[in-house]
Amino acid sequence: MTRARFISPNEVAALRANILSKLTYQVGKDPESALDHDWFMATALATRDYIVDRWMSRTREAYRTGQKRVYYLSLEFLIGRLLIDSLSNLGILEEARRALADLGVDLERIRGLEPDAALGNGGLGRLAACFMESMATLGIASYGYGIRYEHGLFRQVIADGFQQEQPENWLDFGNPWEFERAEVVYEIGFGGHVTPYEGSQLRQVWIPSEKVRAVAYDTPIMGWGGEGANTLRLWRSRPLENIKLDTFNAGDHIGAVADQARAESISRVLYPADSTEAGQELRLRQEYFFVAASLADLTRRHLKQHGDIMSLPEHNAIQLNDTHPAIAVAELMRLLVDVHGVPWNAAWDTTVATLSYTNHTLLPEALETWSVYLMERLLPRHMQIIYMINAQFLDSLRARGETDGSMLSYVSLIDESHGRRVRMGNLAFIGSHKINGVSGLHTELMRKTVFRSMHRLFPDRINNKTNGITFRRWLYQANPALTDLLVDVLGDEVQDDPENVLPRLKPYANDANFRERFAQQRRRNKDQFADLVRKNMDITLDPGAIFDVQIKRIHEYKRQLMNLLQTIALYQAIKNNPNGNWTPRVKIFAGKAAASYHQAKLIIKLANDVAKVVNNDPSIRDLLKVVFLPNYNVSLAEVIIPAADLSEQISTAGLEASGTSNMKFGLNGALTIGTMDGANVEMSERVGEENMFIFGLRADEVEERQRTGGNSSEIINNSPRLSAVMADIRSGHFSPDDPSRYNGLLDVLTWHDRFQVCADFDDYWLAQSRVEERWNQPDRWWSSAVLNTAGMGWFSSDRTIREYATDIWQAL
Ligand SMILES: *Cc1c(COP(=O)(O)O)cnc(C)c1O
Repeated sequence: MTRARFISPNEVAALRANILSKLTYQVGKDPESALDHDWFMATALATRDYIVDRWMSRTREAYRTGQKRVYYLSLEFLIGRLLIDSLSNLGILEEARRALADLGVDLERIRGLEPDAALGNGGLGRLAACFMESMATLGIASYGYGIRYEHGLFRQVIADGFQQEQPENWLDFGNPWEFERAEVVYEIGFGGHVTPYEGSQLRQVWIPSEKVRAVAYDTPIMGWGGEGANTLRLWRSRPLENIKLDTFNAGDHIGAVADQARAESISRVLYPADSTEAGQELRLRQEYFFVAASLADLTRRHLKQHGDIMSLPEHNAIQLNDTHPAIAVAELMRLLVDVHGVPWNAAWDTTVATLSYTNHTLLPEALETWSVYLMERLLPRHMQIIYMINAQFLDSLRARGETDGSMLSYVSLIDESHGRRVRMGNLAFIGSHKINGVSGLHTELMRKTVFRSMHRLFPDRINNKTNGITFRRWLYQANPALTDLLVDVLGDEVQDDPENVLPRLKPYANDANFRERFAQQRRRNKDQFADLVRKNMDITLDPGAIFDVQIKRIHEYKRQLMNLLQTIALYQAIKNNPNGNWTPRVKIFAGKAAASYHQAKLIIKLANDVAKVVNNDPSIRDLLKVVFLPNYNVSLAEVIIPAADLSEQISTAGLEASGTSNMKFGLNGALTIGTMDGANVEMSERVGEENMFIFGLRADEVEERQRTGGNSSEIINNSPRLSAVMADIRSGHFSPDDPSRYNGLLDVLTWHDRFQVCADFDDYWLAQSRVEERWNQPDRWWSSAVLNTAGMGWFSSDRTIREYATDIWQAL
């Protein structure tokens, strides 16, 4: 039961003393009058001491051995809370609990006071956070680089069923984990002009018209086993000067700080769109700001240790998380050519050998481009460099006999057809030695669709790295009851090496006694979750019902709408036959919609409208409940996932690059209802298709249907169930205050059903019937549940990182 294996039990006394000392001397509070939040700060600061010792020895070690460094550049890190994660990875969670209890403080109470660090939108940012923890665990000398947003992802409030966005003020009470590095500062330029370097053709001097400072803030991220921590270095933008004193003294008090406000806006807010919105100037500033600061920092570190800029790729690997940092291709060229005087071709080889790029989406509207005009104005030297790279690239293709004009214009860095735009995906592709997709299917589609020509030209560049999750957070921390059960039957080893040990759980699927214990831990988690919902939302849930969960960003391709249509169909079926033999269900939703994404926000309103009608209909008698939990974030996911029976992973096949919540649920023993999309495909290979509920069109069938247009009226007419649901919505049954509220959504389904909701609906309904059938045979259900947990070892982010380190970074 005890998982404190790294530090001696004497630590309780030491920890207690350290917490008290932090409370007194750093927080400045008397234990007599300390509030819970003060105790949280004191505990976090005491925990940080343990981390810092290990962090420093890891850093010294990296210098001593000259180990290759890995830099993970990401505009998003969706971290969540760090207290329990750090204590657990240090192996002193129980010690901390006891130390606090001695002081009259309940760790469970104070853990909830830590704000979520929500510096990301969803899966892409969460992946970066899991990777940081895995790299620390595997002993890779690594840095994450990003932006220290003052306001992370907005806080979602549901008012009268509608999403409202409010600012998230995660730094209001201070951040106990970070160290401000006032001395690590770089000046970042924008605008201005370019002049030739004396006596050189390709080397230029960029004279920016505007400058801001990037200041480093470091957060150590602890790996499992307390062996070492790596650094998450986030940049904050500051003005060159805080105040213009002469302006202030002349009486213009606002004008005196205007420059400060402008400079600081760069790190003010996380870009609020998820993947649908076009970029604005501030976004491009953010991208360049953090890339320039990070490259300046890592080249300084490299030169200090190795002296020679040309050996950069030998000692460093830079991973670009999506195209957001793709300007790094031009910035690294600028540093090499303009600053270090490296000849152009050698600089290009060095750049390509150092960089690699991860693609996260094939949705055409999400492929980043920037107008040439904006680039020329904001980053004139980079635009020149991009033109030069493009000219050389296209020339080299022509020299190879590639003369097909439409192919050349397709792979060009400049899109000439939409008012001249720079294609960041193509820039990242040709500037990287490896490009990876994030699941087998996604990588295959990359080769066949967006990067088809690139793949033909560079056949060995595209490779697959199926995503993973850190089991420390998503199993040990989120679900201690299941973790204890696994340790009990498989030994401590299961925590140190789940990839190899979890498969040994398979035989237990046939063990009735074990299945019972497995079901019991789920039941306790469901009871706790039901308590939470009763307290926070005043809705009573039957913990014996199937907890059917879809939690993720709200997006049309993720098809929360299809889930809602099925919910309404179930509601109608129960109403039409109230005495039928129904299986009780709770439909649980959570997720944020991008603030400007109208359809997604309407789907949230529909979920709340349906909940209101269903939950208040006495004839339904608790057989069906619908819950939309507000403000989905990492901490909420940690509470919901261990209580889930059914995991909804129902995206239109071919559109979800990987998904990672599918892995979190499977690891915790939920059964998946899903399409053959993203990593669901690999999950079905590893846990067995018979232990999931797979349905719907396959990716190639979706592609075929999309080519023939989105008219679904025939499908709707041929499906009495779907017709009845759509008619019910259209009648205003769920929106009596505004009967036509959902006409827009319904019209899209009928005439432009790009995401194949109608085409997949009946098959989805049938799959849901199979869910009920299995649920009503508990032996089979729990056997499948055990096999899900047992089959998920491969989806550890440690495995993913090992593959990156071996195939892309050469860093293990
Ligand atoms: C895991 C996670 C995601 C990604 O979920 P998908 O269902 O894979 O899109 C998004 N947000 C949070 C808070 C997560 O924990």
